[in-house]
Amino acid sequence: MRRGDSPAVDVNGTSYRWPKAPVAVVCIDGGDPAYLRQFLGGGCIPNIERFIRQGFSVIADGTVPSFTCPNNMSIITGTPASRHGISGNFYLDTRTGEAVVMTGPELLRGDTILSRFAGAGAKVVSITAKDKLRRQLGKDLDVSKGNVSFSSEFAGRCTLEENGITDVLELLGMPQPGMYSMELSLFVLDAGVKLLERNRPDLLYLSLTDWVQHKYAPHEPQARRFYQELDRRFGRLAELGAIVALTADHGMNDKSDAAGKPNVIWLQDILDAQFGKGDTRVICPITDAFVAHHGALGGFVRVWCTGKTAPKQVIEAIRGLDGIESVLDKETACRLHDLPADREADVVVIATAQVCVGASEAEHDLSGLEGHRLRTHGGVSEAKVPFILSVPLNDEYRLKAGAATLKSYQVFDFALNGTLQGEA
Ligand SMILES: [Zn+2]
Repeated sequence: MRRGDSPAVDVNGTSYRWPKAPVAVVCIDGGDPAYLRQFLGGGCIPNIERFIRQGFSVIADGTVPSFTCPNNMSIITGTPASRHGISGNFYLDTRTGEAVVMTGPELLRGDTILSRFAGAGAKVVSITAKDKLRRQLGKDLDVSKGNVSFSSEFAGRCTLEENGITDVLELLGMPQPGMYSMELSLFVLDAGVKLLERNRPDLLYLSLTDWVQHKYAPHEPQARRFYQELDRRFGRLAELGAIVALTADHGMNDKSDAAGKPNVIWLQDILDAQFGKGDTRVICPITDAFVAHHGALGGFVRVWCTGKTAPKQVIEAIRGLDGIESVLDKETACRLHDLPADREADVVVIATAQVCVGASEAEHDLSGLEGHRLRTHGGVSEAKVPFILSVPLNDEYRLKAGAATLKSYQVFDFALNGTLQGEA
């Protein structure tokens, strides 16, 4: 195995140094900085506290819309959505009128850092909680060469051909975790620890799920327990000699009123009332197959003008609505938020921190909230994320970090190029 002195690997215009020690990048799904603020100083996350004290920590900008897929793709390619093309979980194909799910690897533009390193001879591991991310994270990753890519959702059905590993449940000695459980995330980390012990891969990407953060606010005991469990596993990764890099795909905000009722703007209903049914199409790009914990409601939606109404009229109808932070035409949205124009809607609508936007009230099933307050994400308010390294930065990257607000998609760059690995 080549280590240390191997040449750098170029991925999408950035040159990444070959890791001398294993590098484990963890995406804490929904890991709003508020959780760390709640627990820091309280003794329940000692490993994260040590990373912050001895390594590096800053609040970075995530990709907007602050959803799971766009941000994971940004992190794994080291590029903004304008480059990698994944700007939501859904976009509207205007030729067919169909909402297209954006989880296919063929929709991801450019290479992943993992596949390029694997191609250069590194041993890489990609583990995600929900299987919807797995295929894009594993794009062009050759799992026949000791590389591994699987999800805890389908840990029980891994095959060598598809995942590069079998018998994951036996390896961990754990049952298949439930879809709506904190164990689904902890399983990802336990598997990462196990593979680090056994195979000592060069690069690990471990992507969790935000079920806990959707359900529990930072002050709730379940959130504390989850972060304690995460912290123990981060400590173990570091103990095994990995450089640990922690970030998040997005934050999370409480979007219910004092009585616990969700603050929702039913945008399709409003537009239909003004322009008539069928003239505009509101797409909620947070939608996925598992929505019980957020009812497919987020802080960012897209409006396509499919009839006679012009984007300008739609913008005028939305501007000034209580709870709307910004309403942008396509060009402005792409420029401000670095989004791919060919997958962008005519109008982009972003809610304020305490509000979310839905399509038609009749289309959203909120029964899954089961009396919980609605906590969700998607807007600019949820795009601030932690960016923590377990080891200090070198001089060059200290300067870089001080010069501008970091993007979360620079996490591999900082972990591989910016740390003092092997130089001390
Ligand atoms: Zn997420």
